[in-house]
Amino acid sequence: ESLSEFARRRIGEEALEKLLDPMVAGIFAGDPDRLSLKAAFPAIYYLEKQYGGLIKGLIAKMKEAKKSGKKSSGPAGPGGVLTSFKGGVKDLIDSLSEFLRDSVETGVEILCLNRVEKGWKIKYKKGDEVYEETFEAVVLSTPAYVTAEFLKDLDSELSKLLSEIEYSPISVVALGFEKKGLGHDLDGFGFLIPRSEKRKILGALWDSSVFPNRAPRGKALIRVMIGGARQPELALLPDEELVNIALKELKRIMKIRHYPEKIKVFKHEKGIPHYTVGHAERVERIFKLIGKYPGLYLCNNAYTGVGVNDCTKAAEEVAGRILGG
Ligand SMILES: Cc1cc2nc3c(=O)[nH]c(=O)nc-3n(C[C@H](O)[C@H](O)[C@H](O)COP(=O)(O)OP(=O)(O)OC[C@H]3O[C@@H](n4cnc5c(N)ncnc54)[C@H](O)[C@@H]3O)c2cc1C
Repeated sequence: ESLSEFARRRIGEEALEKLLDPMVAGIFAGDPDRLSLKAAFPAIYYLEKQYGGLIKGLIAKMKEAKKSGKKSSGPAGPGGVLTSFKGGVKDLIDSLSEFLRDSVETGVEILCLNRVEKGWKIKYKKGDEVYEETFEAVVLSTPAYVTAEFLKDLDSELSKLLSEIEYSPISVVALGFEKKGLGHDLDGFGFLIPRSEKRKILGALWDSSVFPNRAPRGKALIRVMIGGARQPELALLPDEELVNIALKELKRIMKIRHYPEKIKVFKHEKGIPHYTVGHAERVERIFKLIGKYPGLYLCNNAYTGVGVNDCTKAAEEVAGRILGG
């Protein structure tokens, strides 16, 4: 069942249009008509299955949380609070490499993977040099379309299923403004736009309001999202056009007329995996097939959750399985 079908059945057309559609644009850059409820929002899927209704399920969950003294969490993070790192997401990578020290090798391009007697032989490139090394266990944490290439000769069905996982393109236009005279107090987290509004942006995040250290004192950082499954044709326009779209829409929606002091465009051609209807079943089959190959594991946001929280959880599970033998 698609998210739209579920929403029409349960909460109505208006809630779909005004609440779910923009939320889905914010999390998946996705299209609710094609997103799978079960794969994209498993908590909601199982809430309905287990308790027979959403409200019933939510009340039961709240009671359970109260009893155990735990805060219930939502898609925004633990306890529903937007969370990040002081220095941005790079802090996560820096901490990991600091912790792992010499056992981590960066700046390496994996070229191919082959099954050998003692495990898995990886051919990789570092600088101009090509190396080969054999490992007992290999976790393929590359995006699904890259992993599909690695596994083409090993298992054509597995490779095909991986290559079928779609991705939505998205661009982010980061704009730095002088706060004074901006004409908007930026009191909030930003906004996400329902597609019925027919805007050329998915929404804008007022980063420096959510995380004050994201901009120097007196400055504001606004990030505008463009494209997604809703308007893929816009996502990869030339930088100049993306900036024009972002500024035009901010002018219309927020009445911001100032030109930004800083502009940076980030393009993601294959940005966020789009968990279309059938994704859960596809992933189930993928995991079953990979299970045939001892020492080979998958871990990436293409499978069981697109966010960093989901990836962390999946990574811990994979690590546990490797250590557990
Ligand atoms: C615009 C945007 C905004 C987002 N915002 C949020 C957010 O606010 N909160 C949130 O939780 N998540 C957010 N996400 C999702 C978040 O980025 C992902 O959850 C996370 O990056 C997935 O991590 P991953 O390790 O599974 O995959 P990736 O981050 O895609 O990592 C895969 C890695 O594989 C590497 N690779 C590819 N090919 C090779 C090769 N041949 N050899 C070696 N390495 C290779 C790539 O370079 C890459 O580093 C956002 C994503 C986008 C695009």
